[in-house]
This record gives sequence, C-alpha cells and structure tokens, in this order.
Amino acid sequence: MRSTHSRAAVLARARGPVTVESLHFAEPAAGEILLRMEACGLCHSDLFVAGLEKLPLAPLTLGHEGIGRVAAVGPGVAGWAPGDRAGITFLGTTCGACEWCAAGRERFCPKQTNFGYTLQGALGDYALAPASALVRVPEHLPAAGGAPLCCAGWTAYGALREAALSPGQSVALFGYGGLGHLALQIALHQGLRAAVCDPLEEKLALARAAGADTGAPRNVDAAIVFTAAPAAIPQAFRALRRNGTLILVGLAVASYELPLVDTVLKGITIRGSYLGSRDDLAAVFALAGQGILRPHVHTHALEEAPALLDLMRRGELSGRAVIAF
Ligand SMILES: [Zn+2]
Ligand SMILES: [Zn+2]
Repeated sequence: MRSTHSRAAVLARARGPVTVESLHFAEPAAGEILLRMEACGLCHSDLFVAGLEKLPLAPLTLGHEGIGRVAAVGPGVAGWAPGDRAGITFLGTTCGACEWCAAGRERFCPKQTNFGYTLQGALGDYALAPASALVRVPEHLPAAGGAPLCCAGWTAYGALREAALSPGQSVALFGYGGLGHLALQIALHQGLRAAVCDPLEEKLALARAAGADTGAPRNVDAAIVFTAAPAAIPQAFRALRRNGTLILVGLAVASYELPLVDTVLKGITIRGSYLGSRDDLAAVFALAGQGILRPHVHTHALEEAPALLDLMRRGELSGRAVIAF
C-alpha cells in the first residue's frame, strides 16, 4: 500500500502545545478522499478547540478553512476525480435525515462532524476527508486568498443574512479580524451603513480606510459580535436601537448577563449565528469571483503556525493568516 508523507499542525492533547509533526497517510478508505492541500487559514475556532478541556480526537490536526486538490479517491466515491479542486470547512459530515438537514440547515445537525475537531483537520500538506463533507471550489479562486472564504467569509455572510437588514439600515461589527473585515466588505456591498469597533487603533484605521465608521456606534439596527472577547457583548447590546438585533458569532466559554429591562422594553432580538447555508457559501465564492469580496491575507509557512496562533490569541493579527503549502 502506498503511504503519503505529510507535515501538519498538530495539537498533541487537550490544552497541549501546537507543534508541526510528520504524519503518514495510507490510501483513502471507502468514501474518503485524500487532498493535497494548497492553503489553509488559521481561525479563532482553532484556538477555541486548542483551549477545550477535553478533545474527541488526540493528537488532532487543526484547521478547517482549506483549499486543496484531490490526490487520491477511495473506493465507492462518485463525482470526484484526481486534480479536482475541493474545500474543507468546519462542517464535516451530517446525518442527512434530521429536520435541520432536511431544511438546508445542516450546520445545526446534532450528528455533524467537524474538521479540526471531531475529524482530522486541513492544516497539513495532505488531508484525508469523507467525500460527502467536501465542497466544490471554483478554479478562478486563488488558493491562499480563497481559503478564508471557507470559514471566515462563510460565517460573516451567514451572520449578516441572519441580521436580515435592508439597504440603508445600519450594522455595527465588533472585532475587525478575519471575519470582521470580510463582513464589512459584504455589508457595504449590500448597501448597509457599517460601523466597526475594535480595541486596536491600528485595526480601526484599516476599517476606516475600507469604508467603515469607527466612532462609538449608536442606534444601530443590528450589532454583530465576531470577537470572542465577551466584553464586546454589553457594548454591542448598548449600541442597538429599539427592536434591534444582537447577533453572536465569536465562540468563548463564557457567560453574559442579559439586561432584562432593556431586552424586554426595547424588544431586542438576540440570536446565535454559526457558519451559513450551502447557498451562502456559493454566494461567497461568487462575490470573490466578482472581486467584491477580497480577503486580506498574509501567507506563511506551516512552521509559523504555532507562533501565529499565539499572536491571534492576543488579538494582534489583522486580516487572515493563511498557511500556503
Ligand atoms: Zn473557523
Ligand atoms: Zn442531520
């Protein structure tokens, strides 16, 4: 049997260090595809997984926003051939039978698997994936510039859709990192008035240059919290106008005390948003193809991934760090 050598960014154990390790892949089994990765972005959810008390898989290869090409196809896989372009997102397999799967809301399937969490991830030269979990990626997308669309872009688009705003309405985006900068581009394209809040002045300058208002937001129709810093939530809540919507996206193991009087008397809606629909992902790829969505990426070698994750933990990365293979 052929064995493929790969390097990958691996979390050895729960809350352990992330190191670059040598791995060997056997031929893909039935229903599986081996991808030669072109690029994979680093996402804040990688840090979330790295900080969990327990891991379903260890050691675990991180990474869930990758683009690669099919290197080998396992028995029984139809519709994919070597050389095809495929994307890995956080959403792995789903049951296909529950009410959420039937309604096109597979991302809420209780039986879902997730790359870089319950499945081995995409932060390596090669990745092994269930064929049913892969998405088609258009040829025209550059690999490094396109990889962040598979999580950050998809999630940003989904969150704005959940906010259900019309042109001319206002949105405040909290956190100007990988998701926030893409959400700003989408919001402006949709004709929304967009404000950005971030503790770093350097990031606010970038947001202003991209067309955002960076004064303290007031009376906005929706506030979307992309940062995992819980301190942003009360600030976002206070920015809302009556009947406004608070959308929570950034993941943290934390609680937030809900101000009941304002929630009730102002008729505030609070909702979580996670990824987006399959159609949303296709829309994100199309916006990138039209040059409307332009991820701000810095490409790096795999060896830099552990240090980059530390920078991200401190909130010091602007745009998206992408590992190019
Ligand atoms: Zn992600
Ligand atoms: Zn399901």
